[in-house]
Amino acid sequence: MRTTPYIATNERILGGLWGSLVGDALGVPVEFQDRASVQLDPVRDMRGFGTHAQPRGTWSDDGSLLLCTADSLVNHEFSLADMGARFVRWMNDGLWTAHGAVFDMG
Ligand SMILES: [Mg+2]
Repeated sequence: MRTTPYIATNERILGGLWGSLVGDALGVPVEFQDRASVQLDPVRDMRGFGTHAQPRGTWSDDGSLLLCTADSLVNHEFSLADMGARFVRWMNDGLWTAHGAVFDMG
């Protein structure tokens, strides 16, 4: 007997992408802050600015490279050359960035 609702594979993948981007965007304003600072002012909603001076909802290099990877896999299954080219386009042209520009490269 199934105890969890059926969720189609494509919906699971999209949910994973959305969840990753939202989690990433929640962390961008407090990136590099120590635990004590975040415990004093916990993240409870989207914030703007902070560490990288970005508008609220901005995902980081991690989110952008995740989207580059997904984009490559959707279009070419696995091609290291294509994936690498998309990473270079991210770095040089802001591919899959939230606002068209790279603000940090981890
Ligand atoms: Mg990063």
